[in-house]
Amino acid sequence: MKLSEKFTGQKCILSFEVFPPKKSANADTIYTTLAGLKKLSPAFISVTYGAGGTSGDNITGKIASHIKHDLGIDSAAHLTCVSNTKEDIDIILGDLKANGIDNILALRGDTNPERPPKNDFHYASELIEYIKSKDDSFGISAGCYPECHPECDSIDADIDNLKRKVDAGAEHLMSQLFFDNEHFYGFLEKARAKGINVPIEAGIMPVVNKNQIERMVSMCGASLPSKFSRMMARYESDPDSLREAGIAYAIDQIIDLISSGVDGIHLYTMNNTYVAGKISDTVNGLL
Ligand code: FAD
Repeated sequence: MKLSEKFTGQKCILSFEVFPPKKSANADTIYTTLAGLKKLSPAFISVTYGAGGTSGDNITGKIASHIKHDLGIDSAAHLTCVSNTKEDIDIILGDLKANGIDNILALRGDTNPERPPKNDFHYASELIEYIKSKDDSFGISAGCYPECHPECDSIDADIDNLKRKVDAGAEHLMSQLFFDNEHFYGFLEKARAKGINVPIEAGIMPVVNKNQIERMVSMCGASLPSKFSRMMARYESDPDSLREAGIAYAIDQIIDLISSGVDGIHLYTMNNTYVAGKISDTVNGLL
């Protein structure tokens, strides 16, 4: 099923994101994690590409296939283009098709010293056009940035570029993480005013340890509201309390987003079934 078809009526959806195991890790842990996430009945689960795990062996496609065919949950495979040639993308698309994957989150990706840019694709919109030209049957999603993509000069220019992705064929958007809902509401208003009418899910990352937040914020540039910083300062040397406070913070964000009528919540689970479970148990009845 295409992800865009999940947004019917007024109900908000809750979806999850997982990442493949790192090469050094036990590959089976992801299957245990997914068995735990299945019990939480997410609307779909998306699987990252490259960022946290490997990319050359299409582990993303294999995991997305397991989610769809073995667990019976709709899935999406992330795919980045900046370090891939058109031939590389052709192989991956063929593999995703062979694995019965319906949905692709089409991304540019970040340049990685280990995988230099190949210059066939410069932006995600070019990947979306390319996928559409090769096989129009995939449902296509794209990323969006409530606080502006770090490389773009202004939120207005970034939303103009987002519109290019929608015009190229993205039918659904998932946002970068943020900790202040006002950024998301401001972004949403601007996006709708520019004629972006596809469903937009809010990306929420529960913060459960200090290292994680420092790494994520330096990578994606999300701003930290003072109430978030106070929470971090209060509990930074008490990991159990920080985890519980981070879960409570995410739940508070999500309830406010649902109350404001957002299309969906995309939870960055970080493969943590305990955290995803606590959040789902609280919000599932409120969607
Ligand atoms: P684009 O939409 O191409 O935008 C990149 C920059 O170029 C922006 O500043 C934009 O404003 C600008 N731009 C776009 N088009 C034009 C144009 N025509 N002219 C001038 N400027 C333009 N990364 C991974 O490696 N693996 C993952 O699995 C992954 N999953 C993600 C999931 C989500 C929900 C999100 C939001 C991000 C994810 N990322 C992932 C990170 C992503 O790859 C980076 O944020 C990357 O820097 C941008 O990707 P994009 O697809 O948004 O790029």
